[in-house]
Amino acid sequence: MTTTAHSQTYEFRAEVQQLLHILAHALYTDREIFIRELVSNASDALNRLQFEQLTNQAVLDPSASLEIRIKVDKDAKTLTISDTGIGMNRDEMIENLGTIAHSGAMSFLKALREKGNTNTEIIGQFGVGFYSVFMVADKVSVTSRSFRADDQAVTWTSDGGGTYLIEEADKSSRGTDIVIHLKEDADEFLTDYRVEQVIKKHSNYVAFPIHVGDKVANAQTALWRRSKGEVKEEEYQNFYQQLTYDFGKPMLSVHFSADAPVQFYSLLYVPSKLDRGLLSADHQGGPRLYARKVLIQEHAKDLLPEWMRFLTGIVDSEDLPLNISRETVQSNRIMARLKATVSSKVIGELESFAERDPEAYITFWNEFGRMIKEGVITDGSHKERLAKLLRFHSSRSPEGWVSLAEYVSHMVERQKDIYYLFGDDLKTLAHSPHLEVFKARGIEVLLLSEPIDGFLVNALGVFDEKKLHNGADAELELPEAPQNPDQPAAEPVAESSLNTLIERIKEVLGERVQDVRESKVLTESPARLSASDQGFGADMARVYKLLDQEFDLPKRILEINPRHPLIHNLAAMGENPVAKAVIEQLFESALLIEGIHPNPVEMVGRIQAIMEAATRTR
Ligand code: ADP
Ligand code: MG
Repeated sequence: MTTTAHSQTYEFRAEVQQLLHILAHALYTDREIFIRELVSNASDALNRLQFEQLTNQAVLDPSASLEIRIKVDKDAKTLTISDTGIGMNRDEMIENLGTIAHSGAMSFLKALREKGNTNTEIIGQFGVGFYSVFMVADKVSVTSRSFRADDQAVTWTSDGGGTYLIEEADKSSRGTDIVIHLKEDADEFLTDYRVEQVIKKHSNYVAFPIHVGDKVANAQTALWRRSKGEVKEEEYQNFYQQLTYDFGKPMLSVHFSADAPVQFYSLLYVPSKLDRGLLSADHQGGPRLYARKVLIQEHAKDLLPEWMRFLTGIVDSEDLPLNISRETVQSNRIMARLKATVSSKVIGELESFAERDPEAYITFWNEFGRMIKEGVITDGSHKERLAKLLRFHSSRSPEGWVSLAEYVSHMVERQKDIYYLFGDDLKTLAHSPHLEVFKARGIEVLLLSEPIDGFLVNALGVFDEKKLHNGADAELELPEAPQNPDQPAAEPVAESSLNTLIERIKEVLGERVQDVRESKVLTESPARLSASDQGFGADMARVYKLLDQEFDLPKRILEINPRHPLIHNLAAMGENPVAKAVIEQLFESALLIEGIHPNPVEMVGRIQAIMEAATRTR
């Protein structure tokens, strides 16, 4: 029974109106997913009710069974989806189904526009799944009664136009009934068979029974509680898709359970892509946390170390007290044990993945390597194990990847340290003058080009008792280079004119360099910038440059190669404007190779002046 005194018409927010318009008029594909969305809302409502029951004695109808029912009425052309979940009162209806929140509508419209796609599959990601019902309905009414016994039941009705009506309703039992008046062209959903089919496809693992007619249509199994050997690959994939709205395959399914020191079941996924993990429905990070099959927390952020935030899935504990409140989960000591055990298991899984299928592991690395690096830097307790999961490009085969263990196995006789070089990208690094000294001795060098790498080598420090050492260091202790009798080295510039040249360079560059010296290591390049302090400063400069921020150039030592023809010429040249320009350019080219030139375009004017001098015929 409704009374007009208590009914009121409201307008949808503008972006919801737009969304409804598109859903009702433009989209004819994937329409069946409205069932998934409404069932998922019903399941959420049941989860929340279950949680209330555990922490709050006073719920309406405490003994009503937790379930979802779907009824088809062919004559009335309606589909009714009912649940015995938490329900909504008047204010909640207004807030949830029309007015206040729902910035998600905007984002969803944007996603549709951007890809020029009509893929409504993803609607659930944006927190506006409910509205998908208007793809198939010309009228929808939602009648709900909250679990709070004092709240009045209400009905929300809309035809998906600009407004909705809210009126008092006569419903004595807890929960929500959604009556969907199907459009003419959506009568395919008027059979139990079709509805069951959609449930099996999209909602099979919902934890509550979904009755369609007189049958339960979903498998309802807690997949994560089954033993690993029993679960088919397909089931893992299917569950992953229901969980994440990612319709690709997960990169890795990590399914395990433990009895001690804590008892739990868990099924975690490495998504197909990094952004699937971080931007998807679960973007807030953290797996779902259950206590004995009851959902305690949607995003248990504290359950895993921060760097594992790309993982999605479920951890179901047998030991967490059921009446734990959402606020105290974090500080519970069982949580700390869960965290230690689960994260160690995950790392173990990654270790065996890397061993079992090195090629696939590289695909993982390309996508999630940054996260492993972050782990080395921030997660002290797992540093050693994570170090073994690192992969690097190296001078040995710049396109390929080496692990630190492989690097160590490649080390030459009397090589003590592990060498690395920083640079903007692999191409620049491959031409770095710093490599010459290592090439001449057959020593492999790790090529690091990500901003995070500076922090990484600092956090790592050593691997397998070998120090990580910057190849741009001015003081390198290296084995003697073998002599090549076919290619005797060129004569160096005579000592006195070399000293004069060094003084001249110091004058020209002034404060910009820490020192100018004769190089002991260069064989092919005229100059290099070396650092006397492992070059952390240079790496920070690289980070600032990436962020487009001003930075002070870290001071370096300019080493010149006394055997190089350019240095010979310069030494013979005496003081003049061209020599000065060449010295400037020598320095700035070296900055460029280091990836720390603040503004390479500025060099153009000088290069032109030098070219002019070089082409002058008079
Ligand atoms: P989302 O589920 O992502 O929050 P929806 O558009 O699907 O977005 O639903 C909006 C909100 O409406 C839900 O968050 C919930 O608060 C409320 N709601 C929808 N269906 C139900 C239901 N069956 N029982 C209780 N609340 C519901
Ligand atoms: Mg929803």
